[in-house]
Amino acid sequence: MERIRFGKSGLLVSRIAFGGIPIMRLSKNDAVRVVRECLDMGVNFIDTANAYLDSEEKIGAAIAGRKREELVIASKSGADDKKTFTAHLDNCLKMLGTDYVDIYQHHNISSREKQEAVFGPNGAFEGMMEAVKAGKVRFPGFSSHNVPTALNIMKTEHFFSVQLPYNFIDTEAEREAIPLARKLDMGFIAMKPLGGGLLDNAQLAFRFLGACEGIIPDPGIEKSAEMREIIAVITENNPLTPEDFARIEAFRAELGASWCHRCDYCQPCPQDIGISLVLGLKSSIKRMPVARAVSMTSESITRARTCIECHACESRCPYHLRIPELLKESVAWWDANVRV
Ligand code: SF4
Ligand code: SF4
Repeated sequence: MERIRFGKSGLLVSRIAFGGIPIMRLSKNDAVRVVRECLDMGVNFIDTANAYLDSEEKIGAAIAGRKREELVIASKSGADDKKTFTAHLDNCLKMLGTDYVDIYQHHNISSREKQEAVFGPNGAFEGMMEAVKAGKVRFPGFSSHNVPTALNIMKTEHFFSVQLPYNFIDTEAEREAIPLARKLDMGFIAMKPLGGGLLDNAQLAFRFLGACEGIIPDPGIEKSAEMREIIAVITENNPLTPEDFARIEAFRAELGASWCHRCDYCQPCPQDIGISLVLGLKSSIKRMPVARAVSMTSESITRARTCIECHACESRCPYHLRIPELLKESVAWWDANVRV
C-alpha cells in the first residue's frame, strides 16, 4: 500500500492506521491473527494505548519476528504525572517487545485542567521529554477530543502529531486544527473515522476521509475483512458525488438533535457528571468489551441520577443538546439493557 509522509517526523506510514481498541475483545490468538493479516495487507501504522487493556500485549505478540524498522507504532499514556507516565511507557515497551515507540501520545488532553496537570511541575510532559532523550520515544504526540485545547497544545510546537475526532459528522477539526497541522507540518491522525460506531457506511466514511489529503484515518479493527474493505475504498480513490453529499447532509440532520460530539465544552458540571461518557454509552458498549464499557460508565450513570437540572451545561454545549433530558434517556437505556 502507498506510504505517505507523516509530517515533519518524516515517518512513512500507510494511508490507514490499525486502531487497537477492538482487539481487546478478541482472544490473544485471534488478535494476533487479525493484526498480522492487516500488516500483510500493507498496513504499517498501528495505534494503541495503555488504556486499551491488553491491546499493547497482543500487538507485541503479533509483531514479534517482524522487521521493527518497517513498522510505525504509536501508543498513548493518559497519565497526568511524570512517574505514572514513565511507568506506562516502560510497560508499553515491554508489552510491545521493543526498545522504542515511534509516536507516543499524551492521551486525551481535552480540558484546561488536564493540560495544566500534564504540562505542570512533575507532569507527564517532563516524562515525555526524558523519554525522547533516552531514545524510548522517537516523536511525541497527543490526542484530544476538544479542538480549542488541541489548538493551544499544537501551538506550543512541542509535538509531531495530533489525534482528533474527524469524520463526516464530526468536522470541527477541519476549520482550524487540520490547517494548523499542515502549517506546522504535524502528522494528523483522524480518530473515530466511523463516528465512534455511529456510522455504519464505511464506503461513505472512508471516501470522505480519503479526499482529505495527508490525514491518517485510525479505525478500530476487529476483523481483517473490515480493513480489506477500507483499503479498497481508500485506494479506489472514488470522490464523493453530489448524491453522496446529500446522503451525508441527511445523516447529519438526523443526528443533529441528539448526537454528543464528546468535546466536553459542557463541563464543569456542579454534580460532577461525566456528561459525554453517559451520552456516549451506547457507542462505547458497541466498540468495547461490555465489561470494560460498563466499568467505565457505571459511576457516571450513578452520578447522572443526581442531575439537578440546572441547565448550566446546556448553555455551553455548542450543539444545543438537551443534556438533562438525554441523560435521563441514557440512564433509562442503562436500566433496561445493562444493569444487572
Ligand atoms: S443540568 Fe445536570 S448535567 Fe447539566 S450541569 Fe446541571 S447538574 Fe450537571
Ligand atoms: S453534551 Fe455537548 S458540549 Fe457536552 S460533550 Fe456532548 S456535544 Fe460536547
